[in-house]
Amino acid sequence: MSLKYSNKINKIRTIALSLIFAGMIIMYIGLLFKNYEWVMVLFMFLGLIAIALSTVIYFWIGMLSTRAIQVVCPECEKPTKVLGRVDACMHCKQPLTLDRNLEGKEFDEKYNSKKYWKEQEKTND
Ligand SMILES: [Zn+2]
Repeated sequence: MSLKYSNKINKIRTIALSLIFAGMIIMYIGLLFKNYEWVMVLFMFLGLIAIALSTVIYFWIGMLSTRAIQVVCPECEKPTKVLGRVDACMHCKQPLTLDRNLEGKEFDEKYNSKKYWKEQEKTND
């Protein structure tokens, strides 16, 4: 069984990085249209938005990182950060949980949703 899941902080970081590249490519395409000034300005503007957005995302990751709990991965013994109730190791993608009740259970992203836990509470009552 292949696990498609990856560490949340790493995932967001990848998005931010690809946005920077996208922004640069968009700006580069704009340069190809330097004979049509408005097209070039439009592309430059879009490129700037993409780069600005990635800066915002990087800032957001910084805030998330401070909230994430640092643990040592039992699988590869490297320090990693867990965000939410379940997350994957940054290095080996080993699923990790902070909830003892979930230990040994099959990894599922639903454990991070508030809705799932509300429904669980209802069935326990
Ligand atoms: Zn690991």
